[in-house]
Amino acid sequence: MDITITHSQIKEAVEQAYNECKDIKGGHNADYIPFLANIDPNLFGISLTLPDGTQFNVGDTEYKFGIESVSKVLTAILVLKQQGAEAVLKQIGADATGLPFNSIFAILLENDHPSTPLVNAGAITACSMVEPKGDSWGKWEAIINNFTALCGSEAQVLDELYKSESETNFNNRSIAWLLKNYNRIYDDVPMSLDLYTRQCSVGITASQLSVCAGTIANGGLNPVTKEQVFAKDLAPKITTLISTVGFYQNTGDWLYTSGIPAKSGVGGGVLGVLPGVMGIAAFAPPLDPAGNSVKAQAAVKAVMNKLGLGVFNGDRVTVVAD
Ligand code: GLU
Repeated sequence: MDITITHSQIKEAVEQAYNECKDIKGGHNADYIPFLANIDPNLFGISLTLPDGTQFNVGDTEYKFGIESVSKVLTAILVLKQQGAEAVLKQIGADATGLPFNSIFAILLENDHPSTPLVNAGAITACSMVEPKGDSWGKWEAIINNFTALCGSEAQVLDELYKSESETNFNNRSIAWLLKNYNRIYDDVPMSLDLYTRQCSVGITASQLSVCAGTIANGGLNPVTKEQVFAKDLAPKITTLISTVGFYQNTGDWLYTSGIPAKSGVGGGVLGVLPGVMGIAAFAPPLDPAGNSVKAQAAVKAVMNKLGLGVFNGDRVTVVAD
């Protein structure tokens, strides 16, 4: 079916979703990273970006929160760009683990590869694959410049969050060394782990994340800066990774009920990609037991339902200004 949606319908859907979801209770801030436990749990924002650069924002969309696991999407794009889709498949993989994001068990079960760049193990491997190899500063520059290009504006590490994560990331240290044991780290181990920790500690706004989502939805062309950040043929690759594991062990339920591939992070962010139509981001700190923001997921789902959109609906969607 051909369906047409107007800008005012989108604005209304975003505003209604905000009003309906703002008082949702439930969930808890992540507390295994001490810094995150102290973030105001009432913060909440939704941002939607269209391929023409139009953005709809409501709530706390300029608040810089910890990007956490959503960073895995951005660095997976960098590695896809630098090394190609085949290398990512071969050296990391593209399968869901069906297990929590930080699972060590998943590594033992799939000891031929760490499964996907969107869980901790695969993301640490992805950091080890970033070029220039062996050059910590050069690798970090590549990672953060890629964040800026995807989000359309500069992003910086939240120093306190970085410190808090570095001091408490014992599970990730085990993952990194276990990966080394299976020859699945392609650079220095502490360096790869540190780059991963640092990228998780980047402060990002919902508005920036929705530009990033819009860039993926728009085939790598940033809707705001008009820069072609990555080749169009990589967009379905990254969206596939998001679809299969973006909500960790709840990903199937998520896709089934929301109709949009999305990636969450324990900082409370959610980034959703509807190819060719829009990018959306929402942020609220309290999480469900799997680590997905309670309010942000409700908000993205509400926007999708109100607009009658779904990645598998088979509709040709046209968005028009009015
Ligand atoms: N930095 C967090 C960790 O490695 C990210 C996890 C997440 O957001 O799911 O545990």
